Order: sequence, then structure tokens, then C-alpha cells
Amino acid sequence: MILLGTVSEMHGFAEDRRREGRRIAVVPTMGALHEGHLTLIRRAKEQADVVIVTLFVNPTQFGRGEDFERYPRNRDRDQELAAQAGADVLFAPAAQTMYPDGYHTFVSVESITAVLEGAVRPGHFRGVATIVTKLLNCTKPHVAVFGQKDAQQAAVIRRLVSDLNFDVEIVVVPTVRESDGLAMSSRNSYLTPADRAQAPVLFRALREAERRVLEGGRDAVTIRGTMEVMIRTETSAAIDYLSIADAATLQEQTTLQSGREILISLAARFGSTRLIDNVQVVVP
Ligand code: AMP
Repeated sequence: MILLGTVSEMHGFAEDRRREGRRIAVVPTMGALHEGHLTLIRRAKEQADVVIVTLFVNPTQFGRGEDFERYPRNRDRDQELAAQAGADVLFAPAAQTMYPDGYHTFVSVESITAVLEGAVRPGHFRGVATIVTKLLNCTKPHVAVFGQKDAQQAAVIRRLVSDLNFDVEIVVVPTVRESDGLAMSSRNSYLTPADRAQAPVLFRALREAERRVLEGGRDAVTIRGTMEVMIRTETSAAIDYLSIADAATLQEQTTLQSGREILISLAARFGSTRLIDNVQVVVP
């Protein structure tokens, strides 16, 4: 596995592989790699000859008071895990490399960024769209792999790539979970043992909502209410949002229509640890 840190090294590597006719996949990450990330890397390996994992804790997608400073960082461990999963390159630029003095260009995807995560974390998706644009330009991939765990992020990236005519295929991999259902996340390491024990209720609430939809439930307001009761009675978490939205537009639904794909999603805070999760389902 090769470790690269500068944009010119990354450009040169990608250019050479393309000239050789190799297919390149990129897996953007913020590190603290877990089985979710490794599943993305393995999927990337199936899709391409060369897999580039990017490792960058992107300051522009964190709001004031969020966990940028304390975000877990361990490059040596990440490099080892990524290599074991099949990555060929770790691109780990410094913050100054991505955002040198005088940096002033940002990418803003509109409309679908106004709701859910975007409503609670203003500026978050501007940071995400900007860094993804930069990483695609640096790594010149044929395919880029993301996780369904961050469903709105995946939708924003699909929009970005389509609207700005990036010549890259977007692959979205299903959420990888712990055995008790909790979605794997680098942020799970912040949870106290008591909160960790309660956290699987979030996925149970999503599954209960999904079950109701599959059994014919059409009143989204009632189904959201069911999720809320479960989370409030079984955890001490503060709910940021509970949503049943159209999976493509992310518009909140009141009455569910047959044949429509919906995204049931939530964000909740255990102390200062913020967790998100979702399930996607086609209304029967
Ligand atoms: P992050 O390092 O948290 O920015 O995540 C990097 C990529 O891994 C994103 O595309 C995430 O959606 C994806 N990812 C994170 N956790 C999971 C998971 N539990 N299952 C699948 N993909 C994940």
C-alpha cells in the first residue's frame, strides 16, 4: 500500500493508472476505520483495479461546537486496516494541503440540503460537497463508493455528480451494523457503556416503522409517533429529528403512497454524542 499526501503525487498516480487503462475506485473516509468502511473498500475492490482510500477529517463540514477537535485519529491503524481490506493507496492530505491560506471556493448543493441533517447542521453539506469535489478531482476515479448509513450525504453526492457532470459512477453500500443492530460509526466510541446499551433502540424504532409500513400503515404522522414513543421510553436520548421522507427528494411525507420509495431516518443525541441512522423501504 502506498501512502500519498500531496495533490501533485495523487494526480500523478491517478494519471499513470488511467494511462495504463486501469479502473480506479475511491472510498472517501474521515478515518477511525471500522467494519463499515472496510466493507466499502472491499466493494470498491470488486469494482476496480486500483482502490484509493482517502483519509481526511474535513474541517469545513463540522459546525462550531461539533467534534472536529476530538474526532478519533489514528493513521497507522487506518493504513493497516485499509491495506488488509484491499486498498492500494491511502491519500491522507494535511488540512493545509486541502485548504491552503487564501482558499475561497465552496460547492453548494441546494434544496435537498435544507432538510434533515442540513437543517440541524447548517453548512455541513457545503463542506461535504466541497471536499468530495476536491477528492474526486485529486483521485480521478471511475467509481466512488459511499455508505447508506449517511443516506442524505449519498443523495447530495448523487445530485452533485449529476449536476456538475462528473464522469464518475456512484455506488452506495448498505449500512453495516453491530450484532445488536447499532449502525457502525466512528462516533460510537464516544458512547458511555450505559448509552451504548440504549443505542440499539434507534434501529429497533426504525425497524418498527418499516414493519408498520410493510403491513399497510400509510399515516406517516402516526408511524413517526410510534418511533418517538419507543425512543423516549427506552432511552435518555434527545431526538434531533424523526423523518419519513421521499427517498429521492427528501420531502417529508404525511400519507404514504404505494410504490414510492421512502427514507425513514433519525438523529438523536446521547449526551454530546450524536448518532444518525435510517432504513429505506418501498411502500407496498
Ligand atoms: P466517515 O468516515 O464517517 O465520513 O464515513 C466514510 C464513508 O463510510 C461514508 O460513505 C459513510 O457513509 C460510510 N460508512 C460509515 N459508517 C458506515 C456503516 N456502518 N455502514 C456502511 N457505510 C458506512
